[in-house]
Amino acid sequence: MAINEELTTLKEDFLSRLPGSELITCHPSMVLARISRTAFKEVRVAIQFPADYPDNPLLVELKSKTLSARILDSLTKLCDEELKKWKGKQQIMSLLVFVKHFLDENPFIACSDEIMYIKKELVSEHDDLKLKQKAGIVSMTIRQQRYFLSVKLSVPDAYPTDAVSIEITECNVPPDLLLTFAGQSQELARRCVTPPLKPKPKDPPFEPSPSLQRVACLLANDCLRHCVAQKCSLCKKPALPDNPKEVVVDLNADMHVERIYCGHLFHFKCLDTYVKTPPFKGGKMCPVSGCGKRIYHDKWVTTKNTKLAEDRWAHEEARKRELSEVVDFLGL
Ligand SMILES: [Zn+2]
Ligand SMILES: [Zn+2]
Repeated sequence: MAINEELTTLKEDFLSRLPGSELITCHPSMVLARISRTAFKEVRVAIQFPADYPDNPLLVELKSKTLSARILDSLTKLCDEELKKWKGKQQIMSLLVFVKHFLDENPFIACSDEIMYIKKELVSEHDDLKLKQKAGIVSMTIRQQRYFLSVKLSVPDAYPTDAVSIEITECNVPPDLLLTFAGQSQELARRCVTPPLKPKPKDPPFEPSPSLQRVACLLANDCLRHCVAQKCSLCKKPALPDNPKEVVVDLNADMHVERIYCGHLFHFKCLDTYVKTPPFKGGKMCPVSGCGKRIYHDKWVTTKNTKLAEDRWAHEEARKRELSEVVDFLGL
């Protein structure tokens, strides 16, 4: 009798207490509810009454198509703990509201495996990682030699349908290199959640993909660690100075670091000489062994135009020849 009363109240109050969720089955043999915050943060709660209810706690089973098994396990344990506190009282509504609070207050449940990866695989003992659980913010500082990059990644409520937002808070690489870090990471995050403008006909329909781990790995590995470890393959010296305080900011200084399309780094002077020296046929290629990608760079128009490069080279050579003829003529 008491159970029937509880079920009647449950039916009456469900939607006002839990808007956006659904009471699927409401029967003395089984209560089934879908508790949801977003399309991704959704749990099915199956409830059965034990003998001697409400003196014994409800029997609860949780399922989710989106949340990880680890999250469901810990939520199940938390529910069992809570239920013990409500012995002797009506338990169903309290339980369902508790599950909803859990979904509301833990933004990281939508990316728990990614966070685990960042913690265990990406961040080393030299780095820092801070997780602001309630706000859904991952703050990390990655260090490589004397360089560092600090970034704040905020996980939005509608993750992974919406991408993480990225704020690089501090970094001591040269400013124009930092701009490429910011641009690349924004672009990656955008591509995770935005369908391509021109999808290929054979591609499956676009689905947003999780962006947190990919953006964190890009910034830590491909951007900071990779750039700091790189040598200019033309002079074999480190691309960046050992001491970040000696970073060259002047865009046209010999040792200014240039990043070309493939991601490899060179000193301005080294690359300038390479780009302006033949052969030009087929365009200039990245000299890093195993790369060989075409060089495109805004600073050198000639990297976009082979004919122009050849003309300029011929012109320069003719000028040198003329000069040497003058020199010969003067008998110097
Ligand atoms: Zn160099
Ligand atoms: Zn390359």
